[in-house]
Formats: sequence, structure tokens, C-alpha cells
Amino acid sequence: MLDELQVRPGEPARLAERETKSRLGLGEKSDGYARLAELQEQLRELQAHLFGESRRSVLLILQGMDSSGKDSTIRRVFEGVNPQGVWVRGFGRPEEAELARDYLWRVHRDVPRRGKIGIFNRSHYEDVGVVRVKELVPPEVWQRRYHHIREFERLLTDEGTRVLKVWLHISHEEQRARLQRRIDDPERNWKFEPEDIEARRDWPLYQAAYEEAITETSTDWAPWYVIPADRRWARDVAIAQLLVDTLTEMDPQLPPADPRLQGITIP
Ligand code: AMP
Ligand code: MG
Repeated sequence: MLDELQVRPGEPARLAERETKSRLGLGEKSDGYARLAELQEQLRELQAHLFGESRRSVLLILQGMDSSGKDSTIRRVFEGVNPQGVWVRGFGRPEEAELARDYLWRVHRDVPRRGKIGIFNRSHYEDVGVVRVKELVPPEVWQRRYHHIREFERLLTDEGTRVLKVWLHISHEEQRARLQRRIDDPERNWKFEPEDIEARRDWPLYQAAYEEAITETSTDWAPWYVIPADRRWARDVAIAQLLVDTLTEMDPQLPPADPRLQGITIP
């Protein structure tokens, strides 16, 4: 499943050709939820080992258009995982102290410590995404960032952080429905921002920006995955599977038993 969703390094992302509503061969929604429960159980165990080992970390970067499900992915996939082993950071408009430094400063400062799974709700990809679309810096400035980003992620990888990047791929129509629901449902009003309309108007510009950013930065060490996200349950299963596969491959080990403790009885 994940093989097809990965953007092969050196190949174009081809977002426009990729499905948004796939069931990923998982069957019905109820089958998806059953699968999710199994994966969550595995994730819980693997994360506990990662924490016990405390030598390496995982960084899951979530990007996507407004309402693509970044927040709900975090809420649902990590349900049941020990909160102490997870580190969540959202990146909004940079504050004064952040704007006073290079764009990677705030990102690097908040990478997960060893033993943790870090989750970025938005990331340095905003600095080649919204920043490009809104022309917040000139093209020569954002263009050279692909190089920085590739090498920054290589540094993280070399030093023990596995970097996973996910584009939550929703259709234009699905976004319309979700934004409309934020307007119609009083309990969801707080999620709606007038800028969301503006960003929706610029949909093609964002798609083009991410087409290029994903193509430029899907590397052997930090590949991108384009996850069909119109169906929340299929999205959640795909991301849980990605984490489980990655952690299984990392195979974190609890430290060995301490021989000095053998036979000791607490008085
Ligand atoms: P939300 O994810 O709904 O909390 O919104 C966060 C907002 O901050 C989005 O509109 C992002 O595009 C914006 N944002 C995040 N990073 C940057 C950045 N580096 N420059 C400008 N805007 C950003
Ligand atoms: Mg928002």
C-alpha cells in the first residue's frame, strides 16, 4: 500500500494524477477501523521500545491544504499511545522572534528528543508553500530553500531522527464541503478563518507549489508519501501503517537487563 503512495526520489510527485478518495484496498469503513485498532496496538508497543531505547527518534511531518485533516490525524492515529513519548508542534505564522532568524531555526529547535515520536502540524514546508504563494519572499530566496531542506533532513537522519513526510491529499470538492461545515456547524465555527477562503481561491497555486516542493525534496533518506485523505479512516490507517512499518524496521531495543540487579530483594 505504502509503496504506491511514496513519491520516488527523482520522480515527479504528480499530485493531480493521484487519488484522493481511495479505500486503499481496505474494504469498508468498519474493516478500516478494525485495522486501525490493530495498528494502534502495535504502535503503542513500538513507541514504548523507542522510549526505552532512547537513542533515536521519529519525526512525522504533516502538510496539506486547510481542512485536509492534519489535526484529526494527530488526534486519531495516536490515540492510546503514551503521551509522554509523543511530541506535537504546530507551526503557524512566524512570530517576531522567529522572523528575526532563519526559517529553519524554529523548526530545528523543536525536533523531537531521542526516544520520542515528534509530530509537526505544518513545518518548514510552509517556507516554500504559503511563503511562495503569498510572495512573502522573492523567488530566488525560496528556490534555494529546497537545497537547505534536503540537507537539513539529511542531518537529522544522520544524527538518529527518521523523517517521514506526509501530504494529506484531498480534492477541491471535499475541501469545499469541509469548509462549509465549519461555517454551518456552530461547534466548528472556531476552526474557520476568513483566510481559508483566500487560500482556497489560490488552490492551483498551492498545488503547483507543493507539486514542486514534494518533487524536489523526496529523498532516499526522507521520502514523501501522498496519502489519499478524502476518507478519514483510510487516511488514518495509511499513516498508522507508515509509522508501524518504519518503527518495525528501526527495531528499537529496550536496554539489556542489568546483571547488578540480579537477586536483589528490596528490604
Ligand atoms: P492553522 O494550521 O489552521 O493553525 O493555520 C496556521 C497558518 O499559519 C496557516 O495559514 C499557515 O499557512 C500559516 N503559516 C505557517 N507557517 C508559516 C510561515 N512560515 N509563513 C507564513 N505563514 C505561515
Ligand atoms: Mg486553519
